[in-house]
Amino acid sequence: MNIILLGAPGSGKGTQSVLINKNFGLVQLSTGEIIRENIEKKTKLGLQVQNIVDKGEFVSDDIILDIISVRILEDDCKKGFVLDGFPRNLNQATKFDELLIKYKKKIDFVIELSVSFDDLYKRIENRAIESNEARADDKKEILENRLKIYENQTRPLVPYYKKSNLHYEINGMKTVKEISNDINNILDFKKNDV
Ligand code: AMP
Repeated sequence: MNIILLGAPGSGKGTQSVLINKNFGLVQLSTGEIIRENIEKKTKLGLQVQNIVDKGEFVSDDIILDIISVRILEDDCKKGFVLDGFPRNLNQATKFDELLIKYKKKIDFVIELSVSFDDLYKRIENRAIESNEARADDKKEILENRLKIYENQTRPLVPYYKKSNLHYEINGMKTVKEISNDINNILDFKKNDV
């Protein structure tokens, strides 16, 4: 079973993909985390993308697709994966569909966590307070930029996945536990068809 989690920055995709990993044993694949690891370790890729990520902009589709195309073929992905933060625009989604055909894999669910932008600001401010230091891309102006990019580039993925009947929307304003239950209900109910 392979899943895409869709949602704006701060909508809770990271938290929920950890819970899906725990409950269903699917590997959590976060392109943002992979990129941040590369930046921390100052790899060639990390140095190349640091500025872009700090500004809250998107890393190029080619780089992201290279990362994904290698990662989903690794052994631990055989049982299934949860994508958190990929795809993020229509080009990534269509190229990813081509990859899936080539690798004889498929996506079973696209789960959207919908959250109001006011709520997102509060969450991301809290994330910064709790961790004692804000991620460079969590600062207010940068966050506004990231939300604008989300609206323009990522939200069009909703109609894209609705067309293939993969899309499920969950109210991301509920508690972590309630959202997790909603996700479990969708996955449990449908997993026998997958
Ligand atoms: P995230 O942790 O998913 O919010 O990602 C953090 C940052 O990594 C984003 O703001 C982008 O700069 C970059 N990034 C992660 N995933 C992608 C993607 N699929 N396409 C382009 N850039 C990405």
